[in-house]
Amino acid sequence: MAKIFCIANQKGGVGKTTTTVNLAAGLAKVGQRVLVIDLDPQGNATMGSGIDKRQLELSVYDVLLENASIAEARQHSDKAGYDVVGANRELAGAEVELVELERRDQRLKGAITAVAADYDFVLIDCPPSLSMLTLNGLCSAHGVVVPMQCEYFALEGLSDLVNTIKQVHANLNPDLQIIGLLRVMFDPRITLQQQVSEQLKSHFGDKVFDSVIPRNVRLAEAPSYGLPGVVFDPASKGAQAFVDFAKEMVLRVGKK
Ligand code: ADP
Ligand code: MG
Repeated sequence: MAKIFCIANQKGGVGKTTTTVNLAAGLAKVGQRVLVIDLDPQGNATMGSGIDKRQLELSVYDVLLENASIAEARQHSDKAGYDVVGANRELAGAEVELVELERRDQRLKGAITAVAADYDFVLIDCPPSLSMLTLNGLCSAHGVVVPMQCEYFALEGLSDLVNTIKQVHANLNPDLQIIGLLRVMFDPRITLQQQVSEQLKSHFGDKVFDSVIPRNVRLAEAPSYGLPGVVFDPASKGAQAFVDFAKEMVLRVGKK
């Protein structure tokens, strides 16, 4: 049965999508069966996995509204090496439509359960908000991976997310826990980043992943080729860091 993780942080531009697609590609590379679910109407994880968001016949929107199953909506990305349930702007409407419906926060969970035997890992790329979409992600998952930049306000922003995760854990999903904090876009030459990194380790201990993702231009270039950086330039420092992170995830939570 698949282990299911949300990649979440309510801030935008912190590296959620980059983490989702590169962790997925890294896991695929080490032999894991992976499904990526794009829960952001921007559809960046979809495009960054080589699937055209403008050409989706079925998307995560249809899954949330129970018009389609994941088995119907998923596509395999040959280039990236994993399956994708894509998203596009249509998903922005789901937020409003879901409010009217029963089990509105549990829709994704039910859909994933039906395909959980097909995968070792399901990774859910969350939007930059603590919305009904993110809530569907958190209600479906065993854990949350939080990518963060080691900057001045990083810890402050984290407390809202940690509180939300605690509430979901207490009220909606007793399985949910923070799997770990991933330091991304890290530049060791910047003293402040080193200091924040140390602070993170003293606050959160071994919840901070050992792997660190460096700032690396190849990771930023890869999406414009419709590829995760791990596939686009496997020799780059960024790609290697994500493959190391994938191995760390397998050790931390996997079965093999
Ligand atoms: P989010 O999904 O949280 O909004 P993204 O993953 O889209 O964040 O990242 C925001 C921007 O930063 C993107 O342009 C992405 O290419 C770039 N980026 C992310 N991680 C790195 C990295 N390690 N090195 C360089 N650029 C990065
Ligand atoms: Mg994103």
